[in-house]
Amino acid sequence: MNDEKHNPEENDDVRLYQKIADRTAEILQEGRKSIDDALKKASEEIAAGGDFTREQAEKIGNYVRRDLTEVGVKIKQARETVINAAEPHRLAAGVQSGLARLLNAAADVLTDFAQRSEKVLEFHTGEVTSPGTLTCKGCGKEMHLRATVRIPPCPGCHKTIFRKSY
Ligand SMILES: [Zn+2]
Repeated sequence: MNDEKHNPEENDDVRLYQKIADRTAEILQEGRKSIDDALKKASEEIAAGGDFTREQAEKIGNYVRRDLTEVGVKIKQARETVINAAEPHRLAAGVQSGLARLLNAAADVLTDFAQRSEKVLEFHTGEVTSPGTLTCKGCGKEMHLRATVRIPPCPGCHKTIFRKSY
């Protein structure tokens, strides 16, 4: 782990993360590929472009995948909360609120994906992740990330394992 603020490798990793995420979104919008297939295709294309190695693209692709999984788990929890809170007479009439409907539509794609890898949702110093809140598993200190960054050590206790929330 290198603590330099302007480490070129760190900038490359963050740039690569954004490229893979953007390309994966495009591939998903183009057709009926699964998230895994779209991620794989995006990583391969970008590695073939020559600016990044296959190993780099695979490593950073896994961070994108991990963040998508994390969001998928959260959507599942949010959906359950919204559906459980629905008034029984509305459910009986088959009427769902706009938010519940929206969460259902998004969750169909994301929850399957999330359920398969729910156990890996630990975040480590040195990995790249999207904005959100990381909570240190050692001391409970929170770091609020406003951009996609490479995760630093905990500013409180210097430990390196975190949970994420939004
Ligand atoms: Zn800590």
